[in-house]
Amino acid sequence: MEAGASSKATRTVIVPAAGRCALQAPRVQDSRRGSVDRVRAPAPGRAALRATARVRDSVPPAIVPRRPAASGAAAGQVPAPGRVRAAAVAGASAAGDVSDFTGKHGLIVGVANKRSIAWAIAQATARRGARLALTYQGRFEEHVNELSQGLGEPALVLPCDVASDGDIDAVFARIDQEFGGLDFVVHGAAFAQREELSAPFTNTSREGFRVALDISAYSLIALARGAVPLMEKCGGGSILTLTYLGSDRVFPNYNVMGVAKAALESTVRYLAADIGPKNIRVNAVSAGPIKTLAAAGISGFSSILNVYRERAPLRRNVEAAEVAEAAAFLLSDAGKAITGEVLMVDSGFHITGM
Ligand code: NAD
Repeated sequence: MEAGASSKATRTVIVPAAGRCALQAPRVQDSRRGSVDRVRAPAPGRAALRATARVRDSVPPAIVPRRPAASGAAAGQVPAPGRVRAAAVAGASAAGDVSDFTGKHGLIVGVANKRSIAWAIAQATARRGARLALTYQGRFEEHVNELSQGLGEPALVLPCDVASDGDIDAVFARIDQEFGGLDFVVHGAAFAQREELSAPFTNTSREGFRVALDISAYSLIALARGAVPLMEKCGGGSILTLTYLGSDRVFPNYNVMGVAKAALESTVRYLAADIGPKNIRVNAVSAGPIKTLAAAGISGFSSILNVYRERAPLRRNVEAAEVAEAAAFLLSDAGKAITGEVLMVDSGFHITGM
């Protein structure tokens, strides 16, 4: 139905059962006439993501939107099956609650310990209501299990070496089983062999190059491929990775990791273009330097911290929690028109010339 049609129109939207894709808003306001649509949850166990519309005026199939859009919902168009969130989000927007993660499910890859940026993002999204799956790389199992106890809702904790397609498949199969869909993914895995981060760049080995790009960049493609079918069940989703300015500028000893980050940022753009039509967004946050386990592998890292403190417009370094707030923004519906973006969260260091 087009905007301005009969005010007698009513819609009933059936939302996914709890524990499935997010139920964002209990009511969907129709801005045309101030009429209120009824939104009801199906009985537990019923198939998730079924949208039905009862519209008194007949709706020619031609005007049923293929993609969700708040404007479409506001115009009273009928949501396509599997596109419930768009309608719900319109309600969330009206309520000014777009940063809420209640009912959303997320996968966080890259938690090693409490200093990990991925852990800060886990906390930021869980605090806003998300239910999470956290993966760990072998040796970090105990740490990640312990940390997960501190989240409001119990997290699903799973092993995953991002260099293994088998591990990645197993993670998504389990998430599908437990959550029945997925709303967001955080990719916070990166690795380069120690010798590649100290030797002259010309000495970068073929194997060192392969490993750094496989784990730090290719893995985003592999995770996105696994996430797409689960996100489609939710009518879309948001994928976020973590990068660094070393992709674009030369920093001492960052070496092959800079090349990997350049590949990662390009991957963000190609993925964004590829899966954008499925309403899946792909973005990166480029964080300023933070003392974490990964950073400890870069020789002379503290001098990088000092230079940022002296020269960044804000004259300070950033904290993981600040990076996490920006990440949560991009992951949430607050960033729902943003994709293919690299958001700098570095106290403004990237704008400086000298
Ligand atoms: P971190 O050491 O806490 O996190 C790195 C994570 O990568 C670890 O959890 C580790 O287990 C994981 N990882 C490495 N190889 C893996 C593999 N094969 N399979 C699965 N996981 C693997 O350090 P961090 O600084 O929080 O790093 C997170 C992300 O942020 C990285 O992409 C890093 O490049 C990026 N980043 C860090 C900084 C910084 O200064 N710390 C700045 C900008 C961007």
